[in-house]
Amino acid sequence: MIKELIEGLGVTLKWMFRDPVTIQYPEVKRTVHERFRGRHVLHRHDSGLERCIGCALCAAACPSQAIYVVPAENSNEARYSPGERYAQVYEINLLRCIFCGFCEEACPVDAITLEHDYELSSYDRRSMIYTKDMLIEPVPAGGADTPQHRYAPPPQEMPSPSYHRGRVESPPPGGVITSWVERE
Ligand code: SF4
Ligand code: SF4
Repeated sequence: MIKELIEGLGVTLKWMFRDPVTIQYPEVKRTVHERFRGRHVLHRHDSGLERCIGCALCAAACPSQAIYVVPAENSNEARYSPGERYAQVYEINLLRCIFCGFCEEACPVDAITLEHDYELSSYDRRSMIYTKDMLIEPVPAGGADTPQHRYAPPPQEMPSPSYHRGRVESPPPGGVITSWVERE
């Protein structure tokens, strides 16, 4: 009995002078690793246009069927993204998500990444379905919110000369693309 008591005190004394391994969460937050996969973020171009083109490849790649995308057509009066379509509805059910990162890998335009937000809890299952408004990043400085009123995105935002299924006429020097040319 005395032996166990002394052994117990020894363990207490040994740990008493070491740095604590716990932190005072939520006042203190632990720094995550660079490649940590937390909540998703939908990204924008510098102009404020949404990167997402509503292709739903992320939804197809998701092993948990956590992503729901409804695409819609851009128009000259209301442009949300470069190209023809944008995500009118974009939802992720974070109760289903296993944070595998397949959606990030599947996206052809780097529109979605898993970032460092891990504070994902709720008392309500419905509020764990994150909508596009909750996922999209703020408009960058100098940019404008969507929808924008412009005929086509600036040329520097086009990933390739034959973007998506059309090609783009060369812009005038310092100008903006004025029309799309459909491939025959
Ligand atoms: S991280 Fe994985 S499980 Fe979560 S939405 Fe993306 S593909 Fe689906
Ligand atoms: S996030 Fe990427 S893969 Fe998913 S619908 Fe948008 S453009 Fe397509």
